[in-house]
Amino acid sequence: MEYTTLKQISREKDNSKVKVRVLRMWDAINIANNHDLLSLDMILVDEEGTLIHASIRKNLAQSYRPQLNEGSIYTITNFLVEENKGNYRPVYNKFKILFNSTTSVSKLSGLDHSIPQSQFEFADYGTIASRCYDTTYLTDVIGILDYIGAIEEIKTRGRPTKLRNIQLLLEENKSVQITLWGNTTQQIDDDFYKTNKGPFIVIVTSTIAKTFRVAEIKALEWNSETKDLLVTCNAKIININNKYGWYYVACLICKTKVKQVKGVLWCERCKNEPKFAVPSYRIQVQVQDETNSTTFILFDKAAEKIISKTAKELAEMQEEILKLDEKILPKEIQKIVGNEYLFQLHLDEYNLKYGKENYTVSKILEMEILHKQNDSSKVEEHQDTMEEIVRKSKQEKYIASQKQEIRETSVERPERMLLQMHQKRQKGTKQIASKKKKTEL
Ligand SMILES: [Zn+2]
Repeated sequence: MEYTTLKQISREKDNSKVKVRVLRMWDAINIANNHDLLSLDMILVDEEGTLIHASIRKNLAQSYRPQLNEGSIYTITNFLVEENKGNYRPVYNKFKILFNSTTSVSKLSGLDHSIPQSQFEFADYGTIASRCYDTTYLTDVIGILDYIGAIEEIKTRGRPTKLRNIQLLLEENKSVQITLWGNTTQQIDDDFYKTNKGPFIVIVTSTIAKTFRVAEIKALEWNSETKDLLVTCNAKIININNKYGWYYVACLICKTKVKQVKGVLWCERCKNEPKFAVPSYRIQVQVQDETNSTTFILFDKAAEKIISKTAKELAEMQEEILKLDEKILPKEIQKIVGNEYLFQLHLDEYNLKYGKENYTVSKILEMEILHKQNDSSKVEEHQDTMEEIVRKSKQEKYIASQKQEIRETSVERPERMLLQMHQKRQKGTKQIASKKKKTEL
């Protein structure tokens, strides 16, 4: 066949002829400027399953629109290929296709199963976590619908906006929270999920991964679905509260605090005199971000990662200098004050239901946050304009078509991990569109 595959196209080969299916299509519009259309954008896929972002600028959009439909297959010739630069790329591809006035599109009729009907670039949990401070790519997520919140109306910059939180359980048995904004809040059919047993598979495309802010963690509400949660939060340690000491003596087997009973050590959990008991970290740190401050508790694993010494080592060092006193804070621990980390927190019923702070740190995900903070603030700025773009979506279609395949699958409720993923389809689209616009003007 004389077709060029999407993998083969390059800037030198502008005379390529590609055979592709239009997977998704949306308008990038600018509400800030009278809902002006910026461009008509598409995700295309070819026979090999390669995805590419294609864009038709404003002045050409109306002439191509009647010829293009989501789901249909076309041959396209005389298009431009440009390098895919900038942030918020909806698919992973070095290049991007641009239509110009001589681009020719012809629809192929009849059934053709050679090109995939749907194609996504699903991110696993690790990839999602790594994108918290990297906005190069937008993220596609698939998971089992775990929780669905009500549609709420909030105000951002004085404009009313609809918001809905859902939770998806990913393949790795970790949950992510997804915030749907604007029109996408209505794309989950309440009647459908209320009247069917499920489980329901949900696909959300082009999201931006974010972490929780301190104020958001404190505002998290308990519901019957939420037994315990893992959330990520980027915060700075501003103080250490050493009122109760920085370590405890733990049973080596179960890590429980051992007690002195009648002069001998006793582990309540093992119901035994522990053979080995060692000092273990329990450091209460006060943390802060731009929204609020709260208390995190660092136990051995997390504390060792940032202090680079075990509690046993520090206790022994301290013992040499002075009589061991857990109320005296070693300088190795004092040094962490002022540092900023990406924390993973384990929130339990105690935190969620009773509103107690003292959040347990289960892991330190990122050691050096400072240089990445700038990116994160850019995301925030961008977020304020999220409702400026309206994008059509076909999510329900996928929910319905994928649901049956897993009807027989049993779903366990394992450890849950929560990352906040704001649904950023509109935003991402706008960013791409407006960048493009700038370069063209
Ligand atoms: Zn024990």
